[in-house]
Amino acid sequence: MKSFRLVNPTTLDEAIDFASDRAAGSSKFLAGGQDLLTEMKEHLSGPDRVVNLKSIPGLDALDSSGGSLRIGALTTLSRIERDAAVRAHWTALAEAAHSVASPQIRTCGTIGGNLCQRPRCWYYRLEEANCLKKGGTECFSYGGLNKYNAILGGGPTYIVHPSDLAPALVALGAEIVLRSKSGERRMPLEKFYVLPADGDVTKETVLADGEIVTEIVVPKPAAGTRSTYVKFKERESYDFALSAVGASVVLEGGKVAAARLCLGAVAPVPWRVERAEKVLVGRVLDETAAREAANEALRGAEPLSQNAYKVPLTKTLVERALLALAR
Ligand SMILES: Cc1cc2nc3c(=O)[nH]c(=O)nc-3n(C[C@H](O)[C@H](O)[C@H](O)COP(=O)(O)OP(=O)(O)OC[C@H]3O[C@@H](n4cnc5c(N)ncnc54)[C@H](O)[C@@H]3O)c2cc1C
Repeated sequence: MKSFRLVNPTTLDEAIDFASDRAAGSSKFLAGGQDLLTEMKEHLSGPDRVVNLKSIPGLDALDSSGGSLRIGALTTLSRIERDAAVRAHWTALAEAAHSVASPQIRTCGTIGGNLCQRPRCWYYRLEEANCLKKGGTECFSYGGLNKYNAILGGGPTYIVHPSDLAPALVALGAEIVLRSKSGERRMPLEKFYVLPADGDVTKETVLADGEIVTEIVVPKPAAGTRSTYVKFKERESYDFALSAVGASVVLEGGKVAAARLCLGAVAPVPWRVERAEKVLVGRVLDETAAREAANEALRGAEPLSQNAYKVPLTKTLVERALLALAR
């Protein structure tokens, strides 16, 4: 691991000042360290300065008293999965948090770090592979080992976004709040993520240097809302998703009044499927409607040489998620 300086700010402004001070070299924010420290040990990231966010009081608030759910960036995944209000009203989020890795990782890992974690593509994670994602000239997964890579939205890189919380939060209509020296900005979570073809291919988000995720705000669910997160893993024990679905529907008089669906682990960003949502509106949530929505969700998928299995798998997960909400 490259030597670095650890700084312990006690306010957000101080953290932003530290991270924006270019004279001190490059900086990275440290939350639970579950991804950042691995990246540093494997020489994928080598900041001159590590800005510890855990020394800032108040960044770990979890509050639903005002109707909407406000989650500070440092809130741990284990706290989210256990919170009674989250389980009752934002069920997809509780289920997604519970599905992440192991209890140890959920106890240290934070929501901010989970949403900002880097891809798991083997080539990206292999120090010796100078792939496109790390400033090289080629995405090796395209003609190489691509079983775990993207079937939607790929090119010129084919990573998938690994976060379980992101698709659940997009399905729940969450917004993310960012703060930097230029002030605060707030956006729907799906706008936080950027496709490789639409931005800097070495990044996955709009986060600028020195900019911090401060909180996630999830709206109060409308009456009749049900939500779920369905994840398929290769191993019974902890694992990243091969495919996943965050789903939220509002049921009124036995029919779908509104729906939000977001696919995970199949695209470089959490992949919201608005066309599939439209299929559901005004319908009884039965097997026919679920199948049609699943087909629509995967329309346009372009599998690579080893991941065509993700198409029927993801269709099945969409159907399962929707039918679970119908019961
Ligand atoms: C063995 C293993 C299995 C895993 N399995 C899963 C899984 O199944 N599903 C899943 O979703 N995840 C999984 N993860 C990922 C894990 O959930 C994340 O690594 C963890 O949530 C990251 O949170 P952290 O607080 O430790 O972030 P850190 O490691 O501290 O930070 C991660 C990144 O986010 C940046 N960052 C952190 N907080 C902020 C902030 N507030 N503002 C701006 N930037 C920030 C850091 O600079 C860094 O780049 C797994 C990880 C491991 C090690």
